[in-house]
Amino acid sequence: MEQRRPLIAGNWKMYKTPEEAAETAQQLVERVTGVTDVDIMIAPTCAALAPVFKVIKNSPVALGAQNLFWENEGAYTGEISAPMLKSVGCEYGIIGHSERRQYFGETDETVNKKIQAAIQVGLKPVFCVGETEKERESEQTFSVLDKQVTKGLVSLVSEQLDMLIIAYEPVWAIGTGKTATDAQAQEVHQFIRSLVEKNFGNALSDSIRILYGGSVKPDNIAGLMSMPDIDGALVGGASLNAESFSQIVKFKN
Ligand code: PEP
Repeated sequence: MEQRRPLIAGNWKMYKTPEEAAETAQQLVERVTGVTDVDIMIAPTCAALAPVFKVIKNSPVALGAQNLFWENEGAYTGEISAPMLKSVGCEYGIIGHSERRQYFGETDETVNKKIQAAIQVGLKPVFCVGETEKERESEQTFSVLDKQVTKGLVSLVSEQLDMLIIAYEPVWAIGTGKTATDAQAQEVHQFIRSLVEKNFGNALSDSIRILYGGSVKPDNIAGLMSMPDIDGALVGGASLNAESFSQIVKFKN
């Protein structure tokens, strides 16, 4: 089996002006120059995409968007499309983050449309799934994930999914300082991989990258990455600082 290449991704959420984002990106580039064994992505706000791309374009750091709309263009005030994101340098698009589901009414159906739109233009979707604390406590974790993964990928076929990345982000671990233990995260990642195998076959389930997200920090990344089904991380808070994010990127050192 071919080794899956780790991906460490930073979600900067609604933080940093374009100037601040470009400055942090520059500090990150200085710290990760020469890193060749890990894919690195940062997702600043839309307003900062173009200035950040200018800084990172000849570096190991790739650009991602935090959200996108499923139509390519039209009268959709306030939205941004996958082709527009590609044109400002994005290689990845985060889709279905729990904050989008919680505050902006995203559903498995809209997530599915966005994944299709991203794939159509060659933008790698980082498809986020995860259970709430209440769902975990009532032992619904696996059924919630089954529904999110199955509905989020409905009507897609395995040949379209080679650029898909899944991020398992337990909602109770996002921004709370509570990380899933290595074993808890591994158990869910293994389950997600088995769902991919069931729905799309084992070539895809072997190659697909499944990231963990939820209070990842320099001091817990190595343990998480030692798990066989964890292929990287989606990092919120600790990605806002170039030094801590670069320590996460260099988890092998
Ligand atoms: C996130 O926003 O995807 C996230 C995982 O945040 P944090 O690392 O701050 O928990």
